[in-house]
Amino acid sequence: MIASVFGGLWRRPLTALYVGLLSSVAAQAASAADCPGHPDAIGTSRTIVVDPRAHPIIGTMQYNKTLPLEDHEVVLTFDDGPLPKYSNQILDILAAHCAKATFFLVGRQANGNPEGVRKVRDAGHTVATHTQNHPSGMHRLPLDRSKQEIEQGIASVTAALADGSAPAPFLRIPGLRATDGIEEFAASKGLQVWSADFPADDWRNVSAARVYELAIERLEAKGKGILLLHDIQPRTVAALPRILHELKVRGYRIVHVVPATPDRPATPTEPQQWLLHPPSETVAISRWPKIPKFAVAGPAVLPAPALSDLDWRTSGLGVRAPRRGRSVPLPPAPWPRQSSLLPTVTLAALPVPAASLFKIPESARMTLLASSASRAATAQARSTEVSAAKVAGKPRRPGRAVAPPASAGPAAQAPQRADTNLSKPAAQAKRNGRSVRVAGKR
Ligand SMILES: [Zn+2]
Repeated sequence: MIASVFGGLWRRPLTALYVGLLSSVAAQAASAADCPGHPDAIGTSRTIVVDPRAHPIIGTMQYNKTLPLEDHEVVLTFDDGPLPKYSNQILDILAAHCAKATFFLVGRQANGNPEGVRKVRDAGHTVATHTQNHPSGMHRLPLDRSKQEIEQGIASVTAALADGSAPAPFLRIPGLRATDGIEEFAASKGLQVWSADFPADDWRNVSAARVYELAIERLEAKGKGILLLHDIQPRTVAALPRILHELKVRGYRIVHVVPATPDRPATPTEPQQWLLHPPSETVAISRWPKIPKFAVAGPAVLPAPALSDLDWRTSGLGVRAPRRGRSVPLPPAPWPRQSSLLPTVTLAALPVPAASLFKIPESARMTLLASSASRAATAQARSTEVSAAKVAGKPRRPGRAVAPPASAGPAAQAPQRADTNLSKPAAQAKRNGRSVRVAGKR
């Protein structure tokens, strides 16, 4: 039964698949301007369609890639529901803002409250999964148990939807404690593992005001990204209206994410867009071997500099001082007199190199881009290890880093320090072959 859920995931007709997401697409053009009765709503600025098979792991808390967002774009995610008491309030707040989010539902919660799953779907949000029982130490489970958790979670949410549709193939691992084995299994099933770009610590014993502060601070530090929240927490219910209001005031825009299907192709993107902070367009090396705009070839020619431009005449160079005594003064050196060749030199011109000079084969270009991204990620991971080792005040273990995510920034490192008192360091996951530890979460 579970196998059939997976096996049929991509082959079912669209009419039976992702029914809940159709309304999401209908909401694609939603914005504050067309959120009736809510003039202060932030709205949803756009919907992006992603292909999990092309991008199996995202979220810079653990990985070097994230969603292809523009500056000041935010993706809202809510974990651990549905829990009617709080989840319904979260849905009401989002509805009042016409803001669409992604909900990572727990299978056991879905079994206990299937109506809550349908409410998320009917409100046009993306329904995703978060395992069956939300094991806190998933990285320590035998891989077979982890696989079972993932598959059962999907099966439970599918059953709760009760319309033949399946949840989106988006998966968040509890505590972000993914392992290589879990990631490989997810990829083999066409699931996209979602980490996040920043949390707001709303699962900790902090005030709603603190949740608000952390959400805004960490978003401002990164400029865009995936915000991780929980729809089962009263402090999140209390903080969310303020967060959405402040996002609008500061010019942020909400982006809704849905999965690609055979009938709905992925939004076209460039590889660099999946990096949180792509190299600048103005840095030539970051775009190499693309030909920069300033290297346009054509009939234009550049004049050669004339010797007169050097203007050595004002100096006393070459003119010997007359000797005293019996010596006869020497004539000045022939230069800096102007040469008789000067007129012809002035007419000379140098051609601009042709664009073809810089062209390299497409295959070599992709290799260079990949190795450039790899080097950047490696350097980033290495600097994180070093700085985190200093913060932790303890030596690195061979082959492992004790570190918060590199790009989490100072704000996101705060929970890591808090973790030393509150909980064990959490997930280890792959960053270009390296393991990093990230702040624990539920
Ligand atoms: Zn969770």
